[in-house]
Amino acid sequence: MIRKLVFATSALLASSLSAQVPPPEDMRLYDIGAATSATRIEQDVAKLVGFGTRHSLSDTQSESTGIGAARRWIQAEFEAISKQCGACLEVITIADTVTGKRIPDPHEIVSVIAIQRGQSDPNRMVLMSGDIDSRVTDPMDSTSTSPGANDNASGMAGVIEAARVLSRYKFSASIVYAGLSGEEQGLFGGKIVAAHAKENGWNIDAVLNNDMIGNVAGINGIVDNHTARIFSEGVRWVETEEEARKRYFTGGEVDSASRNLARYIKRVGEQYVNNMDLMMVYRLDRFGRGGHHRPFNEAGFPGVRIMEVNEHYDRQHQDLRTEDGRQFGDTIEFVDFGFAAKLTAVNAVSLAALAWAPAPPADVSIEGIVQASTTLKWSMGEDINLAGYRVYWRLTTEPVWTHSRWVGKTDNYTLENIVIDNYLFGVASVANDGNESPVVFPGPAGAF
Ligand SMILES: [Zn+2]
Repeated sequence: MIRKLVFATSALLASSLSAQVPPPEDMRLYDIGAATSATRIEQDVAKLVGFGTRHSLSDTQSESTGIGAARRWIQAEFEAISKQCGACLEVITIADTVTGKRIPDPHEIVSVIAIQRGQSDPNRMVLMSGDIDSRVTDPMDSTSTSPGANDNASGMAGVIEAARVLSRYKFSASIVYAGLSGEEQGLFGGKIVAAHAKENGWNIDAVLNNDMIGNVAGINGIVDNHTARIFSEGVRWVETEEEARKRYFTGGEVDSASRNLARYIKRVGEQYVNNMDLMMVYRLDRFGRGGHHRPFNEAGFPGVRIMEVNEHYDRQHQDLRTEDGRQFGDTIEFVDFGFAAKLTAVNAVSLAALAWAPAPPADVSIEGIVQASTTLKWSMGEDINLAGYRVYWRLTTEPVWTHSRWVGKTDNYTLENIVIDNYLFGVASVANDGNESPVVFPGPAGAF
């Protein structure tokens, strides 16, 4: 009788412990991190370069040259991938007719989108993007040869390759693979798709925009094939004056959802992709320059730009030519496909981890003024895979989260004798398989 009781108690203890603390790693992510193919990316970059120009105002009728042929090929490629996974991708185009400084006459900008629907939370989305279009020296030149091999066939090929790899798996949330047009004419594809997402109530938690992921030899003479940059906004573009006032007194300048998404990609990418150092840059984008994550940030969606560290300006937006023995032009010979495959893998493991994780915690708040301890509160999530929560903290000058603890399935936690003034805090949702959401900083400054 007594022995039976002891047995029952220890079995209960063991089962409750294993149910409570999810595993620290997901072995599937190592497989995904090693699955992207440099050869397939090379073939796709070559195919895109082969359209002659992909300028947004170029020919749309030809089957072999111009932006129309390029986007129809991308659409066909997504449809071919979908065939391999039992029609797991919904392939659509999202278009609008626009004008702008670099689009003087009304012109239709068409983006190509493939959606891999989530199993349990299909309206929650994580999105990877690259650009279809290219340009040379004159942004209005729609006829000259414009290979755009690195800018941005590399990013587009990465998106297609990520779809090939991830379509072999099933996820809780949806993954969106986006080929965006009109980037060089004024970020139009991103604006149109972000507006479509808002109108249709897409709940996008993360935009991973890839723009130039294949150059390893910089104009500064540095050759580096194991470092990449993640750019992110520090303060949300959509912050209101009242929210800014609150942030002024309570912090959050370096903890927007986009910034904590950047930290997430750094952690997951360095864990699951070999020989990869991810360098967060605490700015929206390169100094004074633009990319397609910005229109998503401007629509209120968390998003980052992923790209090489060492750029080569002779190979961006240049007419193909040689001047005094110096070669100009964004040609395929300068793209490092192994590097592009690694950056694609960084995207793939991040998208997979995000899509397997529960939704980021909502309504996160914090209190602890003139107290010894700090209390975090949030709303209990409803994901069927939710195991519980992990609270995080770090010194205010630390770039990444340094401390954390598992707190179980609760909607609040008090960190005893940890004073609110001296640290930054956040909370992440954790799935039964161990995959976590990004860390959410309290209040509107950090909300996803
Ligand atoms: Zn460009």
